[in-house]
Amino acid sequence: MAKRDAIPVPTKLRLFADAAGHCQRCLGKLFPDEMGGLKHIAEMAHVIPHGDTGPRYEARPDGDFEVDSFENLILLCPTCHTIVDKHPEAYPRDTLLGWKRDHFGALARKQGIITYENRRDVRDAVAVGLAQNKAIWEKFAPSEGSEFEYDPESTTAITWTDRMRSVILPNHYRIQAIIEANLRHASDDEGKTFAEYREHVRGLTARHVCGEAGGTIRFPEAMETIFA
Ligand SMILES: [Zn+2]
Ligand SMILES: [Zn+2]
Repeated sequence: MAKRDAIPVPTKLRLFADAAGHCQRCLGKLFPDEMGGLKHIAEMAHVIPHGDTGPRYEARPDGDFEVDSFENLILLCPTCHTIVDKHPEAYPRDTLLGWKRDHFGALARKQGIITYENRRDVRDAVAVGLAQNKAIWEKFAPSEGSEFEYDPESTTAITWTDRMRSVILPNHYRIQAIIEANLRHASDDEGKTFAEYREHVRGLTARHVCGEAGGTIRFPEAMETIFA
């Protein structure tokens, strides 16, 4: 078999952000509570495999096709990865791509995220997560200029990463989903704040999930009062 390159970091990051911490088939958590939220069990599964054999290889499109592209990968828990690769006839390419396309909507429905009639209700829906994140941040976040992140053995660093993966990021993903479902209530300024917020969360995911350092923009302060 030809030597495979690793999946490029930007692709991996986009997959993790797209999946919002949940398996794209069963919607189960990819940072299980019983593992303290510290470890993830996500597997990047190929929809069309490398080479001329393997699950769904016959559905490979003609012409140039990038096997390791975002479009050809789906983020699954180990159980779902095994199931779709062991029974490819039951899980054709379109089915997998459909799960991925509908993932955010399916996750929002599972989490009971709905569209609200007024701003007040959107505010109430996002306020709990924002407040919880702020409280954890105040207690555990590295202070400005702190170097502890470069010492992975430090218990402070481990606690912070744990809280980030098990509480803060899931809250952020949920808040994003709520706001996205209710953007029609947002003012132009709030729309802009939300775009910055998404970039902030993307950066947190890059750093704390994908292990990619740097490039995180600050949490936009206006988020504190969004929809208030
Ligand atoms: Zn799964
Ligand atoms: Zn696979």
